Amino acid sequence: MIKSRGRTTYKTSGFVLGAIDYGDSDRIVTFYTDRYGKLKGIAKGARRSTRRFANALELFSLSTVMLSRSRGSGLALIENCDVVNHYSGIRNDLEKLLGASYMIELIDHMTLEGKKSLVLFNHVKAFLDLVDANMYSDDLIHFFELRLLRYSGYDPVLDRCIVCNTPVDGIEKPCFSVIDGGIRCGRCRDNGRPQIPVSVGTLKALLMSKEIDIDKINRLSLSRQSLKESEAVLCSIIEHTIGKQVKSLKILRQIQGIVENKSGV
Ligand SMILES: [Zn+2]
Repeated sequence: MIKSRGRTTYKTSGFVLGAIDYGDSDRIVTFYTDRYGKLKGIAKGARRSTRRFANALELFSLSTVMLSRSRGSGLALIENCDVVNHYSGIRNDLEKLLGASYMIELIDHMTLEGKKSLVLFNHVKAFLDLVDANMYSDDLIHFFELRLLRYSGYDPVLDRCIVCNTPVDGIEKPCFSVIDGGIRCGRCRDNGRPQIPVSVGTLKALLMSKEIDIDKINRLSLSRQSLKESEAVLCSIIEHTIGKQVKSLKILRQIQGIVENKSGV
């Protein structure tokens, strides 16, 4: 961090979470950074000169960003932005592109400006690297969601019944209760609350995905039934947490539906 003539200049690494046009030629860009968490900055003239920022301001690009801020001013000025990884492997494939866009949209919804988390930054980087390296799958999206919930403080209770504490191994007819944020066994089921039936096998697979090293995560795969159950459980927690449907997930599912219909799956 450098201070000169009332302005503070600082450097950080960040993923682009989104950008909107501002005025005639500027862009306001939101980053998720390693040193400051989520932050916004204004890129002056970004729409007039494509060369100045090249592709460093595109969605989910990882860049080294130089920002400056004058005392008392809210929005930082983006002085310079050098792309570190443009993730071309993701951009060349529609399904990967939509999957990565969904991950980024989730990060934007589930983080607050100025709240730093290096664990979360590394989480985004690890998963974007996996998608870029051709390891994209629906399983991977669910593993991403679950770890994100954990790092954001919304970790669901999947290892026991939240009422009687019966561990997952001995649980019968488990259901996920969105309001409780965890599993209830058949005996503790409350029919007055919305609940999603989920098998012990799915719970165990999800629990394992939270603990396994990220470089081994691709050794895990969910059965067709577990995929369906994971999607129902995780989608319900996320929508309950952020209070709305995630736009890019809806588009991803629509595109997958079109592809599956065409190929007769
Ligand atoms: Zn119980």
